[in-house]
Amino acid sequence: MVTVLVDRVKPMASELAPLPEGVAEVIFSSAELAAAVGRLAERIAADYRDREVLLVGVLKGALFFAADLARALHRAGLAPDRMTLDFIAVSSYGNSRRSSGEVRLLKDTSESAEGRHVLIVEDIVDNGHTLHYLRSMFGGRAPASLAACALLDKPFHRGVDVPVEYVGLEAPDEFVVGYGLDYQESYRHLPYVARLHPWVYRD
Ligand code: 5GP
Ligand code: MG
Repeated sequence: MVTVLVDRVKPMASELAPLPEGVAEVIFSSAELAAAVGRLAERIAADYRDREVLLVGVLKGALFFAADLARALHRAGLAPDRMTLDFIAVSSYGNSRRSSGEVRLLKDTSESAEGRHVLIVEDIVDNGHTLHYLRSMFGGRAPASLAACALLDKPFHRGVDVPVEYVGLEAPDEFVVGYGLDYQESYRHLPYVARLHPWVYRD
């Protein structure tokens, strides 16, 4: 019998050249992202074994992450009746590459958070203001417990000290796009996380 060992962190062939216009380099391949999501799911499934979790994905950035995490939680053994998936939408003012800390709620959850084990699912934490806003908001709704999970963490420019219980990967100190993350609403649907060429930026 022949066993083929697949290097799971190597970018898939289709993610290598040619990259789409504007994309300078792949930082996390889809295989690396999938591995990180799988590791997070194992930890979360273990921690929430005896609790029913309300996953709250933060739109739009965490759309793909929340969807993949929810399915990875199933593979990690979380029973189907132990998880509810919901979404919230926020926008943060600022220029398009750095949020100002002023967060606006665009869409609330449809589920009530009261008495629930709420897990906020964020794409990326940078200065921390967005997550701080969400934690305060859900904290005021009498949840049974409150925790946060971020696929990516950029711990370099925190403006506020905010706990992130589950972090997938540490991102470099630069603006990244893909896997839900946008630059002026483009690049969200790249299956990997990448950096852009400087000439792309219009601000
Ligand atoms: P914070 O409020 O922690 O500075 O930033 C949180 C939000 O800003 C994220 O949910 C995300 O929408 C956006 N953000 C922060 N860093 C990046 C980045 O490197 N790329 C993109 N596309 N968005 C980012
Ligand atoms: Mg954004």
